[in-house]
Amino acid sequence: MPALDSTLQSIYDLVLRRNPGEDEFHQAVREVLDSLGPVMAKHPQYADARVIERICEPERQIIFRVPWTDDRGRIEIHRGFRVEFNSALGPYKGGLRFHPSVYLGIVKFLGFEQIFKNALTGLPIGGGKGGSDFDPKGRSDGEVMRFCQSFMTELYRHLGEYTDVPAGDIGVGGREIGYLFGQYKRITNRYESGVLTGKGLGWGGSPVRKEATGYGAVFFTDEMLRTRGQSLDGRTVVVSGSGNVAIYAVEKAQQLGATVVAVSDSGGYVVDEKGIDLELLKEVKEQRRERVSAYADALGERARHVAGGSIWDVPCEVALPCATQNELDEAAARALVANGCLAVAEGANMPTTPAAAKLFGEAGVLFGPGKAANAGGVATSALEMQQNASRDSWTHEYTEERLGEIMRGIHERCAAAAEEYGAPGNYVLGANASAFIQVADAMLAFGVI
Ligand code: GLU
Repeated sequence: MPALDSTLQSIYDLVLRRNPGEDEFHQAVREVLDSLGPVMAKHPQYADARVIERICEPERQIIFRVPWTDDRGRIEIHRGFRVEFNSALGPYKGGLRFHPSVYLGIVKFLGFEQIFKNALTGLPIGGGKGGSDFDPKGRSDGEVMRFCQSFMTELYRHLGEYTDVPAGDIGVGGREIGYLFGQYKRITNRYESGVLTGKGLGWGGSPVRKEATGYGAVFFTDEMLRTRGQSLDGRTVVVSGSGNVAIYAVEKAQQLGATVVAVSDSGGYVVDEKGIDLELLKEVKEQRRERVSAYADALGERARHVAGGSIWDVPCEVALPCATQNELDEAAARALVANGCLAVAEGANMPTTPAAAKLFGEAGVLFGPGKAANAGGVATSALEMQQNASRDSWTHEYTEERLGEIMRGIHERCAAAAEEYGAPGNYVLGANASAFIQVADAMLAFGVI
């Protein structure tokens, strides 16, 4: 990692001291601080007002007990979190993650990223994130429902369409949002559609919300390729993961003429040189809720499943990490570069380790960081909030058009800031600088709060 100047280093030291053991949060903060040197040099007012120190400290952190009863009548106890990180630009906005790895450090890394991602969309949303160490995998619908009801019975008091608006993330999809919204509505006796996003299409959801993160990551990739006179048409693409983000990244990449040859889950990856059969993938993952190995099983000779191993060993021109944090490390980056990869865009949050990202930079690989490349999901959540506020619902075509415009705007903002701060083509620096300035200016306007 490059050295920080002394002011930024002392801010980072303070973050390490005040948040011991929260490695992912440290990593997310460090990545932003690494970009801010030229911004601080040009705008000394931010240091005077201690804006970075304030941004690194969440406005509010809520941790709560979630007791519930499983199908055998046994009481289970999980831990719930909501970190309301920054509301300078709008109500706290960000998803809920249900996964056994969830602890405060994960929620804070995600919430911190979300502040900048949401600012980049240009829409009026602050940053927050939440979740639980509950694992919905292998649970019955009844168990998931009872867990969600207990979770919301505590969380509801902190939410509101002008206060804090959760959505999904890993382990939280349409089913969970339904149970959470139902319980919120029941407790508050209000049909407050705008309090949650990712709702079903028949009850206040937005067209394209489900597809938005994956579609947006592909739109962003296309924009990056365009700067070099290239496109996705005819390219070989590898997408890690096989959840909501991955599935719709595959769909849009295919629509733009690419061949997606591999997808994965935590058990391994499948390679299908003919191109992933999207209908089959959706059936396996969305309907049957099975592992990707079932995809290979269904296709016999045509596809192979590799248990364990690294999906990044599969040669490709475009890599879209859409699984989880730190899934693409330095060794994986080396393999991608050696195989001639042109572009990487993060569909997941922080899937690339700092060493891998550095390597892509040195090798001249286009690299779109998650807070820019995967912002299409939360941006479409903001479009859902707009529709809810105006008691309207838009068409699929119009909503996708808006998503496309937003992704082009994000690309433009990142590229312009990278140029202005002396690092043309560096989307990491561009995203961090542009988003930071937007949040910091609002905070300066509000005084010391
Ligand atoms: N969890 C998604 C993200 O990482 C979406 C958040 C939202 O829609 O509020 O941005």
